[in-house]
Amino acid sequence: MTERTFSIIKPDATEKNLTGAVNAVIEAAGLRIVAQKRIKLSQAQAEKFYEIHKERPFFGELVEFMTRAPVVVQVLEGDNAVARYREVMGATNPAQAAEGTIRKLYADSVGENSVHGSDSLDNAKIEIAQFFTDDEIVG
Ligand code: ADP
Ligand code: MG
Repeated sequence: MTERTFSIIKPDATEKNLTGAVNAVIEAAGLRIVAQKRIKLSQAQAEKFYEIHKERPFFGELVEFMTRAPVVVQVLEGDNAVARYREVMGATNPAQAAEGTIRKLYADSVGENSVHGSDSLDNAKIEIAQFFTDDEIVG
């Protein structure tokens, strides 16, 4: 089934000029980038986006990381896009990520792991709506 998922190219990747390299992996995997913009997350935006992790010990560090440099927020479209992009990203900890995945190729650590991807279709809809209006998504 054709789905849309939400992606973020995180600060570690934009700082290293890897936006195009990450997008090349996404596109080679058959996912279409149907919306994309480079923004600087505010503290409030980052805290809201990662609200589910607010009790975790790494929450403060995560918000600081996500706001230290620009990110690229994206909507990806394709067959089973939510699960497909999670595969393409690789495991949260790059040391455990499979060969050829974005995190294996480019990520430095479990915190600074280059990309975010929605973990369910429901969350994809919620996350897309936090950053894009319908008319900004051109499928
Ligand atoms: P994923 O991004 O793979 O869905 P999680 O939802 O578990 O992973 O965590 C959200 C984000 O929080 C991770 O992508 C990573 O940036 C950060 N994070 C997760 N676990 C840790 C950790 N143990 N230490 C520091 N940062 C972490
Ligand atoms: Mg997650």
